[in-house]
Amino acid sequence: MKRLVVLGGGESGVGTAILGKQKSYDVFVSDSQKIADKYKKVLLHHEIDFEENQHTENKIFTADVVIKSPGIPDKVLIVKKLIERGISVVSEIEFAAQFTNATIVGITGSNGKTTTTMLTNHILKKAGLNVAMGGNIGKSFAQLVAENGFENYVLELSSFQLDGIEKFNSHIAILTNITPDHLDRYENDFNKYIASKFRIIKNQTANDYFIYDADNETINNWLQTNKPKATLVPFSIEKELEFGAYIKDNTLTTNIQKEIFTMPLTSLSLKGKHNTKNAMAATMAAQLLKVRKQFIKESLEDFEGVEHRLEFVAKIKEVDYINDSKATNINSVYYALECMNKTTVWIVGGVDKGNDYSELLALVREKVRAIVCLGIDNEKIINTFGDFVDTIVETAGAEEAVKVAQKLSEKGDVVLLSPACASFDLFENYEDRGNQFKNAVKNL
Ligand code: ADP
Repeated sequence: MKRLVVLGGGESGVGTAILGKQKSYDVFVSDSQKIADKYKKVLLHHEIDFEENQHTENKIFTADVVIKSPGIPDKVLIVKKLIERGISVVSEIEFAAQFTNATIVGITGSNGKTTTTMLTNHILKKAGLNVAMGGNIGKSFAQLVAENGFENYVLELSSFQLDGIEKFNSHIAILTNITPDHLDRYENDFNKYIASKFRIIKNQTANDYFIYDADNETINNWLQTNKPKATLVPFSIEKELEFGAYIKDNTLTTNIQKEIFTMPLTSLSLKGKHNTKNAMAATMAAQLLKVRKQFIKESLEDFEGVEHRLEFVAKIKEVDYINDSKATNINSVYYALECMNKTTVWIVGGVDKGNDYSELLALVREKVRAIVCLGIDNEKIINTFGDFVDTIVETAGAEEAVKVAQKLSEKGDVVLLSPACASFDLFENYEDRGNQFKNAVKNL
């Protein structure tokens, strides 16, 4: 019996453990911290041996294979020691992929992964395909494979998950965009982060497809010096393409597989240029899987969007409130501000991952009436925008921020929470921040 050691007892680790047990491995889960009760219950139920708050080396070094949860960096001691001993450390998706022959749509990028993943899944479901969605959102891939029987998987993949693959392949790979993010995990080297994202196509063959943002300079530069084996399927909102997706006469147009698909931008349920790009990617993935146009159209019309991403909360005293708590970097805020067609009171701040706010200056001058800082350290925001926006107010909680924003707004304005920062100075996570914002709005 082969021994499988799983490092990390979260969604990914527990899914891996279940799959490993099902495939007759001797499984041991080890977490250096506490394992959440809900996962402990699952492990107990499946009679899987585990430890928490420690890594017992003699139980780990006996492994034939070790699966590391994507949250654990390579530089932690236990991983270094495993690698020194020549024990293979792979990622959950690598492990799970060997147990399925299903068609995989793999989706990565700095922004737009979740939206594109959910939209793609929505289209494929409507078309009646046997499909499961997971990966970096919802259930882990390993868990889905253990549940068995799916013919198609739509997987959101983070760069950390891609770092641990060797043979894993997506028949259709989508790269939504690449902008600086998570550089703390890549030794502040943007090139390392880029390389990690492009691992999504490393095992593709001539029978596979690579859907990507042809407006993204980083991606274009990479493609100039590297030659993917897959068919390239670009999308652009800036230029008309001979092959791929583009905008013509305010109409989303795709031209692939000798077929033209069109859809007026006004019929798309998700608004904003960035969402048009996400819709282009999802549409072409569905077309490559032979989904009929009618199903794609209906899905693009009735897709409800994803919570905490430019989510409309309420209209109160003729002011719209929008929750974009998931906007944790500059690029996503850029798109959020860009698609605001009303004067905006902007709530921003938190823990900044190395932001260059000056990229937002032009949009802020054009659209922002007042800034409400929602964070502990707001110095950079005040320094950048102080000379350009009349009013900047510091707040230290969602309720206070919303009340101040209401005071500063005028009829016909929009109040936008789009923080450009992580949330853990004042909140548990971005969902908590978004939920507190929504509650505060509802209590106005
Ligand atoms: P991810 O899963 O990659 O974090 P999400 O779909 O959760 O992406 O969106 C995260 C944030 O980025 C939201 O604020 C959303 O409005 C914004 N966003 C969504 N799609 C894009 C895109 N294609 N380009 C830039 N920003 C985007």
